[in-house]
Amino acid sequence: MTPLAALTAAMASGSVKVIDLTAPLSSDTPILRLPEQFGQTATFELEEISAYDDRGPAWYWNNFRTGEHTGTHFDAPNHWVTGRDSDDVASVPASRLVAPAAVLDFSTEAAEDPDFLLKVDQIKAWEGEHGPLPEGGWLLLRTGWDARSASQEAFLNADGTGPHTPGPSVECARWLAEESPVIGFGVETVGTDAGAAAGFEPMFPCHTFMHGAGKYGLTQLRNLALLPPQGAVLVAAPLRIVRGSGSPARVLALVEGDEV
Ligand code: MN
Repeated sequence: MTPLAALTAAMASGSVKVIDLTAPLSSDTPILRLPEQFGQTATFELEEISAYDDRGPAWYWNNFRTGEHTGTHFDAPNHWVTGRDSDDVASVPASRLVAPAAVLDFSTEAAEDPDFLLKVDQIKAWEGEHGPLPEGGWLLLRTGWDARSASQEAFLNADGTGPHTPGPSVECARWLAEESPVIGFGVETVGTDAGAAAGFEPMFPCHTFMHGAGKYGLTQLRNLALLPPQGAVLVAAPLRIVRGSGSPARVLALVEGDEV
């Protein structure tokens, strides 16, 4: 059997399953709120063109308006000034959109401390147990934050001192970008940086270092609890927006059967 015939047979038998890691995209989808001096992204909106009515008797369709960085979405390298001369979302090679994923579960730590910061030594301890991060793959950080995604308020978790959500430490972001074998970092939260990262040095270090290294981000993932620590294959499919800095994406994982 050829490799693809083996894959389709495994999918037909259920020994390989497809898990949807994508949040529903609607006007209720939580969105990032930057400090108020900065420009803000738009919520997702549908505008009906016709619905089997006199505007189009046999068809239903919509226009939509959205930020590129709304809901489950892909961050391209040119999203950040450090990657401004690197790929836009349309230029990311298709071969990099299908890749292995490691899932690191720090949901207990994030439940205890919403400002939890992932450290390099925690990744190395995880590698000691589960093996090295995948070459050319993704590190997906599970924090349990997907359980909050029905509420903008709970999802951003902001108070008078700003948002409180988990993410990588400055040194961890630098290590992921410059030393680790992964091409991307994926999270369940509204952005790949921690909520407090506007006050870090540098500001938003995950964006700064990862995009500066030509690497990618994925945000607002869900169902990471259904993935094994190693062995899933991630399919991340952003729209091919010319000059785009990112795009809402359908993100799927292929997992071997006993995991779900
Ligand atoms: Mn983004």
